[in-house]
Amino acid sequence: MTDQSPAPTVPSVTLQSGVTIPQFGFGVFQIAPDDTEAAVLDALRAGYRHIDGAQGYRNEREVMAVIDRSGIDPAEVFVTSKLSNAHRGYDESRRAIDESVAIHGDKQIDLFLVHWPLATVHDFMIVWKAITDAFDDGAFRAIGVSNFHRDHLERLFAESDHRPDVNQIEAHPYLVQAELRSFNAEHDIVTEAWSPIGQGIVLEDPVVAAIAEETGRTPAQVVLRWHLQLGNVVFPRSTAPSRIRENLASVEGDDLTDEQLTRISALDRHQRTGGDPDTFRYKY
Ligand code: NAD
Repeated sequence: MTDQSPAPTVPSVTLQSGVTIPQFGFGVFQIAPDDTEAAVLDALRAGYRHIDGAQGYRNEREVMAVIDRSGIDPAEVFVTSKLSNAHRGYDESRRAIDESVAIHGDKQIDLFLVHWPLATVHDFMIVWKAITDAFDDGAFRAIGVSNFHRDHLERLFAESDHRPDVNQIEAHPYLVQAELRSFNAEHDIVTEAWSPIGQGIVLEDPVVAAIAEETGRTPAQVVLRWHLQLGNVVFPRSTAPSRIRENLASVEGDDLTDEQLTRISALDRHQRTGGDPDTFRYKY
């Protein structure tokens, strides 16, 4: 696809708050600040209108700067941020939220998440309270969590009047997350799948390769299409213009068959590429 080709039509998902989110976006984790503007500009030109960012990715300013100079109405680009794991306590969290709000300028942050529960480090209910109070003050259009297990969500349901719109969790064919995805769905929480291609590890799988051959898609497109048909929101990351377009083209063309979806889901081996939410303590 060239810049002149029409952008693919990306489906939307409606969150329980009524806010709609493009089901396919662009992730900016591990994209260096100096490379962020070029990558995000490529993504916007290709037709992406959803950027998954975070305070901890250290490129929030660059993401917003390129949206501002892209000529696209910032209201048309769905932007997510997440509270950095470095923040402790209510006041510190509110100050960090204010910094993100300032970086986003006139644009209301579309979605803001607790990045990790960090239950062995602090009380995530304090962080959630800071986010829900900022939501009530108009800082965000929607709020949610990331890396929450069922027990973390149950505590949140018991102790807060606010429900998360999304739970962003690691998910790909080697970590299908069937139970947690069902639990999310039962509570009207949309599952967002991070590392949707498992940072590349699932692309060499013979089953994925065979389905790529059967469908005329690339392995990445097969895996991303599987996510879309399961109902997951995805935002693969790449800084290569050809892959940025290849990935977005997953929204086009025929559905995978039920038999192909089942073969991919059967690859589950509960294999994480990132941290386990019960033990993860990383500060970013
Ligand atoms: P990913 O699954 O998107 O894989 C990225 C890797 O795959 C990169 O090395 C990239 O070069 C390669 N790649 C991309 N497209 C390809 C293609 N078509 N063919 C071959 N290789 C390709 O991994 P990710 O970046 O970890 O996850 C995506 C996004 O999820 C992140 O950018 C971030 O926004 C989000 N995320 C969130 C959390 C969280 O804790 N909430 C954690 C990790 C990632």
